[in-house]
Amino acid sequence: MKLVFATNNQHKLDEVRKITTGCTEIVSLSDINCHDDIPETADTLEGNALQKARYIKENFGYDCFSDDTGLEVEALDNAPGVYSARYAGPEHDSEANMNKLLYEMERKENRKARFRTVIALILDGKEYLFEGIINGTIIKDKRGGTGFGYDPIFVPDTHTQTFAEMGNDIKNNISHRALAVNKLVSFLSKIAE
Ligand code: IMP
Repeated sequence: MKLVFATNNQHKLDEVRKITTGCTEIVSLSDINCHDDIPETADTLEGNALQKARYIKENFGYDCFSDDTGLEVEALDNAPGVYSARYAGPEHDSEANMNKLLYEMERKENRKARFRTVIALILDGKEYLFEGIINGTIIKDKRGGTGFGYDPIFVPDTHTQTFAEMGNDIKNNISHRALAVNKLVSFLSKIAE
């Protein structure tokens, strides 16, 4: 089976291709000559994931899936959530986003947070959603040099290192995205049976 993953993020493509080997060929947006700025204007992760997948199906005709992820912080009523990429402004600046979050959390005792990924799949005219969640804590100072986004300030409950300290191999095995992709892959392999 061949499926479009509505992304050009090489990091995400590698992560997803590692899990889907054998069952599905994953092609990127540039592989289908899509260089559009796909709208992401919904106010939920589910809405954004569906919006991107529908855009590809409607404009390019391919079955596809897309993902959207947010960091949901309990003491901030689940902010930054769907706005995680642009929390500190439209520049999508990870350092500025983390600094803003650390500032908002300065006086908060409850430091519980979770990463949540939603994958929307459009296959044979039907829409499906898959969710992956990892619970953890926002620490007070950045630690570690790998990964991206909020990785240096997030420690998953199952570990003592931040996502940015443990390295991508460990992170990619336990991450919110991996959990959602695993659900997608087991769904696809059942269909292929
Ligand atoms: P996206 O939907 O995967 O593009 O994620 C939106 C934003 O959430 C990113 O720009 C990052 O700021 C943050 N984010 C998503 N996944 C991760 C992750 O695995 N680690 C740290 N931050 C992430």
